[in-house]
Amino acid sequence: MAKWGMVIDLDKCTGCQACTTACAMENNRLPGENWQDVLFYTEGTYPNVSMKWFPRPCFHCENPSCVSVCPTRATYKDPEGGFVLIDWNKCIGCKYCQVACPYGVRFFTDEKAVVQPDIRDVFPAKDDRQWDPPYKGPQDDPSRGIGIQPHGVVSKCTFCYHKVSKAPEGVADLDEDIPELKEYVPGCVRVCAPKARFFGDLDNPESYVNKLIADKRGVRLKEETGNKPQVYYLSGGAAAAVPGLRSMKDKS
Ligand code: SF4
Ligand code: SF4
Repeated sequence: MAKWGMVIDLDKCTGCQACTTACAMENNRLPGENWQDVLFYTEGTYPNVSMKWFPRPCFHCENPSCVSVCPTRATYKDPEGGFVLIDWNKCIGCKYCQVACPYGVRFFTDEKAVVQPDIRDVFPAKDDRQWDPPYKGPQDDPSRGIGIQPHGVVSKCTFCYHKVSKAPEGVADLDEDIPELKEYVPGCVRVCAPKARFFGDLDNPESYVNKLIADKRGVRLKEETGNKPQVYYLSGGAAAAVPGLRSMKDKS
């Protein structure tokens, strides 16, 4: 069984946010509450200031702190594929997981809208979901946190479980350039114009993601937490630096 992982090359990422937009469309996100986001920040002191950006999905950690704190076991690690998912039928909205995640990638959306006008008033839901978007995705699986978010639950990126889990058994990489695998590629990876994102099986030595991690010194965010993200960053050029134990060791 695959252990899916992602590699994001910070030297190639242009911060265009196509990944964020594709994810929002694919997963019916409320405006401003993005499962996949690009965080912008500045570095340096005026007048020597530069703008940096940092793309950030859920990292589907190997040892996820969000899972261990969940009192209802709504948040769980799927042994098939290594996805970290949320069962919306079990979630009681206590937000323990939001506090426990060191990366801030979870969303409780029953609060004041981040972006005005409140899209929930513009497209009101007819059931207990938050809204009724005009571009609804066909996928709906509340036991895996897929579909339109109901009230009172937490959500986050699913690694596009509804696509990836249907991929043929044994494939090493899900790549937009392999025509027969296109449909299984996560939305954010599929639309990335400079090809800064790669998605493959971390347990398969033949996968391109493993080669990139080895060749370009892939690092994981906040390794000191022990969460062991399944998303690796490549940097080393002029792009954003990724704090991580491996990168620190390399410099010493
Ligand atoms: S990034 Fe956060 S929400 Fe995602 S698996 Fe890791 S701890 Fe859980
Ligand atoms: S908010 Fe839901 S998923 Fe998170 S810890 Fe509470 S019950 Fe579990």
